[in-house]
Amino acid sequence: MLERSPGLARRDRRFHDWLVVGAGFAGAVLAERIANQRNERVLVIDRRDHIAGNAYDHLDEAGVLIHRYGPHIFHTNSEAVFAHLSRFTAWRPYEHRVLAEVVSPTTGRTVRVPMPINLDTINTLYGLHLTEAELEGWFAARAEQVAQVKSSEDVVVGKVGRELYELFFQGYTRKQWALDPSALDKSVTARVPTRTNRDDRYFTDTFQAMPKDGYTAMFARMLDHPNITVRTGMDFETARRRYDFRRLVWTGPVDEYFGHRHGRLPYRSLRFRHETLDREWALPTGTVNHPAEATPFTRVSEYKHLTGQAHPKTSVTYEFPAAEGDPYYPIPRPENQALYKRYEALADAERETWFVGRLATYRYYNMDQVVGQALATFARIEQTVPPAAAN
Ligand code: FAD
Ligand code: UDP
Repeated sequence: MLERSPGLARRDRRFHDWLVVGAGFAGAVLAERIANQRNERVLVIDRRDHIAGNAYDHLDEAGVLIHRYGPHIFHTNSEAVFAHLSRFTAWRPYEHRVLAEVVSPTTGRTVRVPMPINLDTINTLYGLHLTEAELEGWFAARAEQVAQVKSSEDVVVGKVGRELYELFFQGYTRKQWALDPSALDKSVTARVPTRTNRDDRYFTDTFQAMPKDGYTAMFARMLDHPNITVRTGMDFETARRRYDFRRLVWTGPVDEYFGHRHGRLPYRSLRFRHETLDREWALPTGTVNHPAEATPFTRVSEYKHLTGQAHPKTSVTYEFPAAEGDPYYPIPRPENQALYKRYEALADAERETWFVGRLATYRYYNMDQVVGQALATFARIEQTVPPAAAN
């Protein structure tokens, strides 16, 4: 079915030193390094009809820049990662702020309070006037004794107690992962800290900024190299029949590469509802979280906060967690990690294939971590793979 006529197949056949499967951060960063530093020919394919992977952004019908796969905010503590990406984009400084919409346990009224939980969250929610020093004790009086912090429940109840846990984390997490926080690794909710000061930024990294012309433009510059050919709308099965290549970079799901030989690795998906509104602004901050379990979506985000775009209309995205659909999130829990380890052993045994990125290494990585992983992989390639001219 995917075969083309023999004559056409022959004419189409081209040799590439490398085939890179996936045009997201992992694939694009490696393709550029290989093409630029090793002067080798790279073919980058993606089964989607665009580059940039999950970070893909584009103008919607109204002309507002939106992110097709949900809001992507760039933040990192790595100077090396920031410097590397800065070769392909200028930046717009942006610090993300999030409000959570919850019902106050004292007044019964719906309020929007800062998330991560901070001094203002507690004072607003409970009608208090605590100081920073007093809040430490307030949390301590509510925190539960947890002998060993293992799960995503332990992390939160051990710090702020059960009421805040149930209000802000339990429902959100059950929706997002279809699992109770007690069944998820502690690293999941540990992504969101608790603060006693008034800092209301979602992230505290040294570098926080958005690519000035958007992510897709940054990827287009990264992939714009005479040694790189990009084919979108093409999956691996088609590419492997059509092209000759010596080495492979795989950034898709690791279990897919091995034909799900050991069973399927679980991933969590999302359905996005994009809306354009006929008014200038919709939300007070970039994102409003909806932790209540009864609300089917987890958060709403308004892009103009992130991008700084001036436009008489505005566009927002609702995120609805889903079991079916594109694999967006590896699910961090011990049994999944054990299954991944079996795939990792297979991956380690592949001689000419490198596995990089969030899906290929089954890690809940942010964009900067994927860039860091891709740069580290390139360093390993440089150490172990002789240049094409030499082999
Ligand atoms: P991807 O971007 O998934 O790229 C892999 C590509 O490979 C895909 O385009 C896919 O189509 C292609 N592919 C897979 N299999 C095949 C095949 N067989 N043939 C051809 N092509 C194939 N990170 C942050 O730092 N900040 C954020 O604010 C943030 N927000 C996020 C919000 C959401 C809703 C999600 C889901 C993720 C968010 N992330 C965020 C994480 C970020 O998206 C990832 O870290 C990053 O995109 C991973 O890059 P990657 O190259 O590993 O994978
Ligand atoms: N989380 C939560 N309530 C919130 C925000 C986050 O329970 O208001 C939990 C939830 O389990 C979520 C995890 O913390 O999946 C990580 O949140 P983050 O905002 O980092 O998720 P991402 O942006 O990766 O989807």
